[in-house]
Amino acid sequence: MTLHDAAGQDRLAQAPPVVADTLAAQLESLDLAGRLALAAGLGHAVFTTSLGIEDQVITAAIGTHRLPIEISTLETGRLFKETVDLIGETEERYGIAIRRFTPEQGDVDAYVAKYGMNGFYESVEARHACCHVRKLKPLARALSAADVWITGLRRGQSGNRAATPFAEYDAERNLIKINPLADWDMETIRAHVSAEAIPVNPLHARGYPSIGCEPCTRAIKPGEPERAGRWWWENDEKRECGLHVPESAAQPIPPVSQIAR
Ligand code: SF4
Repeated sequence: MTLHDAAGQDRLAQAPPVVADTLAAQLESLDLAGRLALAAGLGHAVFTTSLGIEDQVITAAIGTHRLPIEISTLETGRLFKETVDLIGETEERYGIAIRRFTPEQGDVDAYVAKYGMNGFYESVEARHACCHVRKLKPLARALSAADVWITGLRRGQSGNRAATPFAEYDAERNLIKINPLADWDMETIRAHVSAEAIPVNPLHARGYPSIGCEPCTRAIKPGEPERAGRWWWENDEKRECGLHVPESAAQPIPPVSQIAR
């Protein structure tokens, strides 16, 4: 099953949600390598990694099995040094190249001029505007040629992600999103990382189960949900950066042209 048949007919244009449902049922019975191989066979597949522990599991599988999946990361300019260092270490370990997508300097300058470098602490709107410039726009470039988007989303990461399917149709980006670790829990992830000696971010051992940009991530306390350290100053329990929620469902973001002064 591919998204584009021999005649070039686009199956996504026919009934993409049905395609996603069929895929989800197929993926459920496969192991991780099988799930990734199935995703890779659908068309141009792009895996976006934040270098978090579950993403490292996926990267290791892609590298070990030499799967034809492009690996990309969003280098926001505000990452922890440990995260940036892990990009190179991972490339070396698996003999792979991880594509870096950075924000446009003009967009960053316009954001800083309007909100200040750390203006995201002041309001949800300012925070979403920063994520838009540093993450969402680079993500759009990373996925511009993709038929399939592979992510490390898991149901156990937060209540907001509890219903994560193995496959879903992303209507805004017109691609199939595959979440091959949707049913993995943290215990399974840690056991796999240990058995395979997969390199992980040293911050995980210091209380950071979920790691994003440095100014927006803190260590969590015992008993807190995995993503409690992300944008901890906001009250919304469903807070996300917008990568995995439709932009139409997120808070409106002013155009970059309007951000400037
Ligand atoms: S996580 Fe924080 S620093 Fe990173 S893009 Fe979002 S608001 Fe900006």
